[in-house]
Amino acid sequence: MKLLQTVAETHSYILQLKQNGYQVGFVPSMGALHQGHMSLVKQARRENDLVICSIFVNPIQFNNPDDLAKYPRTPEADMAMLRDAGCDAVFAPSAREMYPEPDTTIYDFGMLDKVMEGRYRPGHFNGVAIVVRRLLEITLPDVAYFGEKDFQQLAIIRKMVEMLSLPVRVISCPIVREPDGLALSSRNQRLLPEERAVAPLLYAALQKGADHYTNFTPVKLQQMIVADIEKSPLFRVEYVEIVDMDTLMPISSWTDSEHLIICLAAFLGHVRLIDNVVLQR
Ligand code: AMP
Repeated sequence: MKLLQTVAETHSYILQLKQNGYQVGFVPSMGALHQGHMSLVKQARRENDLVICSIFVNPIQFNNPDDLAKYPRTPEADMAMLRDAGCDAVFAPSAREMYPEPDTTIYDFGMLDKVMEGRYRPGHFNGVAIVVRRLLEITLPDVAYFGEKDFQQLAIIRKMVEMLSLPVRVISCPIVREPDGLALSSRNQRLLPEERAVAPLLYAALQKGADHYTNFTPVKLQQMIVADIEKSPLFRVEYVEIVDMDTLMPISSWTDSEHLIICLAAFLGHVRLIDNVVLQR
């Protein structure tokens, strides 16, 4: 597996292989890799000739400096996992290499980046769009893989690719969970044992809501999910929203949209977790 740290070496490596007709699959990540990331890498491996993964903790998408400072970093374990999953190359640049000059682009995603995460993490999605665009321009993939765990991020990346007519196909991959239902996340490592013990409540509440939603109004369902999660005093729910899967706009009646998803964010101790579940209609 090749380790690439500069834009120049990455460009020449990829361009040469593309000239030989290789289809390139790309998986962007911030490292501290787990089986959720690996599911993206393995899918990319099955569907492409060359798989490149990036590891870059993008400072400009963190609206909370403490979250950035405490973001887990496990470079050796990451490299071993990627090698085992059949990744061909890792692009792991420094911040200086990624941003020789500050990128001050401001994207207009309409309402997509104003709701849910956008409301609680101002500037986050603009930082995500800047880094993903730059990574796509450096790694020149035919296909890029993103997890449905970050459902709003996925919607914004699809929108950016469409707005800028970027020549890449975006593929979404299902959420990988622990056996007890907790969605895998690099941030799970930071949970204290007593927090980890109650963490499955999050998905349990979402699943219960999704199983019985027709018995309640959307507002009532939202309230029930919040109450179920906050049965543990270690949780503080930030939002639970039931939204249209394309526009991400909240609904007030079940007939407002055909394709619905429940998204949430909650603090478990000091760790902020997100999760979602699609409603089966
Ligand atoms: P991150 O390193 O958190 O930026 O995540 C890199 C990619 O992995 C993103 O596209 C995430 O949506 C995806 N991802 C993270 N956790 C999971 C998971 N539990 N299941 C599926 N994909 C995931």
